Amino acid sequence: MKEQDIQAIEQLLATPKKIAIIPHRGPDGDAMGSTLGLYHFLLKNNHQPVVVSPNEFPDFLAWMPGSETVKIFEKDKKNCTQILEEAEIVFTLDFNALHRVGEMEKVLENLTVPFVMIDHHQSPDDYATVTYSDTAFGSTCEMLYHFISFLGKKSDIDKTIGTCIYTGILTDSGSFRFPKTTGTTHRIIADLIDLGVKNSEIPALLYDNSSYDRLQLLGRALQNMKIFPVHKTTYTTLTQAELDQFNHIKGDTEGIVNYGLSVKGIVFTAIFIENTEEKIIKISLRSQGDFDVNLFAREHFNGGGHRNAAGGKSETSMQETVQKFEDLVSKLII
Ligand code: 5GP
Ligand code: MN
Repeated sequence: MKEQDIQAIEQLLATPKKIAIIPHRGPDGDAMGSTLGLYHFLLKNNHQPVVVSPNEFPDFLAWMPGSETVKIFEKDKKNCTQILEEAEIVFTLDFNALHRVGEMEKVLENLTVPFVMIDHHQSPDDYATVTYSDTAFGSTCEMLYHFISFLGKKSDIDKTIGTCIYTGILTDSGSFRFPKTTGTTHRIIADLIDLGVKNSEIPALLYDNSSYDRLQLLGRALQNMKIFPVHKTTYTTLTQAELDQFNHIKGDTEGIVNYGLSVKGIVFTAIFIENTEEKIIKISLRSQGDFDVNLFAREHFNGGGHRNAAGGKSETSMQETVQKFEDLVSKLII
């Protein structure tokens, strides 16, 4: 972070403030970890923070400390709008453009208070008073650790804040596997373990809590997988009917996309998930190595993300969407 930005933040936080903290819509482990980590840090520093999530967070994150205090905009628009309008500072975490909050964007657009962005996605929009954006980091949670340290408050990071930060680093790094995992990432993790963060329990809370239905749904997704060996690509689909058949709940499809990369020799994969309520096909893309799925998502599926993990959506049918994908793949030389 730039020295002047650190000073600006210090000034903003010099007196107790009402602070809104916002993750992106469809918050994941990093979005929840960073917003809740910041929440506990601000609470410790005598502020009045509230995490306002655009929509519900997945069940597998409900154990996170402070998750019971999170306000859900889509469930309680009136109250959440009031919290946002009364905030003296707004922190936006783990996203780079206001449209990533969905409907809440309309409320945020009209606020005149300072915004602070902490994020690791490419091409951040220019809406924040202070922008701490760096694509070199594998997670916003890792950035939050540095952010707190820049403020000279590293000793405030306790087991609770550490648990939140650990969760986001773990989930966004694919359990410390993705290329942005550095020595520093591991040194931070080591510090967090020394603070009492339960590194052997958190992965189980996140990953070993599937319902039987969820595993059956995973089985269906694996059966639906198509492979294009010449183009080193796989993809799979889940229709709304399949989601319904296995009593799908929020979070059940999380991580399924990664199986497409676990096929030997595959470097590009996608999952297409039908959402009849929103009338879209939600797309997740993953790659290994140089193939840039952020670019692919931006160019073809109205989305974005990172080089090796991105997403987008399609407003045509499942059949048309996968046909478009197959046509694009048939021209790919990876
Ligand atoms: P996921 O596939 O896990 O939903 O998302 C992977 C990455 O792509 C995340 O960093 C996420 O923020 C980003 N992403 C997912 N969907 C979209 C989208 O529709 N638009 C943009 N700009 N980014 C997305
Ligand atoms: Mn993230």
